[in-house]
Amino acid sequence: MLEDPSAILTSTPEPLMDPFGRRIEYLRVSVTDRCDFRCVYCMSEDMTFLPKRDLLTLEELDRLCSAFVDRGVKKLRITGGEPLVRRDIMTLFGSLSRHLANGALDELTVTTNGSMLTRYAEQLAGYGIRRINVSLDTLDADKFRTITRWGDFGKVLAGIDAAREAGLKVKINTVALKGVNEDEIETLIEWAHGLGMDLTLIEVMPLGEIETQRVDQFLPLSQVRARLQERYTLTDLDYRTGGPARYVRISETGGRLGFITPMTHNFCESCNRVRVTCTGQLYMCLGQEDSADLRAPLRMSEANDRLNEVIEAAIARKPRGHDFVIDRRRNRPAVGRHMSVTGG
Ligand code: SAM
Ligand code: SF4
Repeated sequence: MLEDPSAILTSTPEPLMDPFGRRIEYLRVSVTDRCDFRCVYCMSEDMTFLPKRDLLTLEELDRLCSAFVDRGVKKLRITGGEPLVRRDIMTLFGSLSRHLANGALDELTVTTNGSMLTRYAEQLAGYGIRRINVSLDTLDADKFRTITRWGDFGKVLAGIDAAREAGLKVKINTVALKGVNEDEIETLIEWAHGLGMDLTLIEVMPLGEIETQRVDQFLPLSQVRARLQERYTLTDLDYRTGGPARYVRISETGGRLGFITPMTHNFCESCNRVRVTCTGQLYMCLGQEDSADLRAPLRMSEANDRLNEVIEAAIARKPRGHDFVIDRRRNRPAVGRHMSVTGG
């Protein structure tokens, strides 16, 4: 006879909660710092990438993501650098898809520059991915080359087509760049909405050293919105995708437009997100330096006890928010790491 029946009950681990009562349900994981593009606001032309041994292996990435899923993460976004250039990356999507199948995870998704989608879209759909974000800042092939330095516009458009054909819902992410694509925002909206895709505009954030001054790139979305309102009827929506975007419906196109405004309107108060870099550093806030190393506990033992302790201690330090500033006097990035390191 059993001595104490409660002793054999495996207790469900507590969900992760930060000091401000925000439940951590959204994890973004960067699987590589490398990329086949060199977007001017994201990377410098001549980037030094990490040695391969510093990166988490695909097995370690699976273990790490699964540890977060066990602690209540419901949405997992794979990003980078360019996630789809990592060798054998489909193995990771394949193994993580078990969490979708058993209902632990609500959504597994990816942010990509689109260059590899002709190759991978169908497989992604097969693994249960329903929606993806594709970053595209212009519909002008020459401008595309100027912004991405190395990108192939035709390949990205073909990738978007392949994704839609595979049944993936595509959302377009566009970084609003002063004097570069600001005259194209309406064209991008009409193109995306014409194909049934949402479009989200993003303000440039001061992350990492690049060649240009941030202040020369920064276009406040409050200005873009005011301009759009002269032409379109915008209605605020309650619609949320778990991320920081705030959406409006444009009556004339019938489509949804999102605004991510870390600079002009701080989006921190409802932040339920944390990020892990490709080397296993956990960042509790995109705009702060504090981080916790998860690679050491992952490599130290096959059991997750130490890993869980480090994660808990880190979440207990999640700050209220960031304090990004872009101006001429402060010509230094808010944080030294590029977006491609922390993962967009
Ligand atoms: N390579 C993939 C892509 O471009 O979608 C995923 C990684 S990328 C770092 C993720 C997103 O971050 C992209 O939409 C990109 O435009 C955005 N991004 C990169 N650097 C940024 C910055 N300094 N400010 C705002 N957004 C940035
Ligand atoms: Fe690469 Fe994405 Fe950064 Fe562009 S934004 S350089 S595609 S990681």
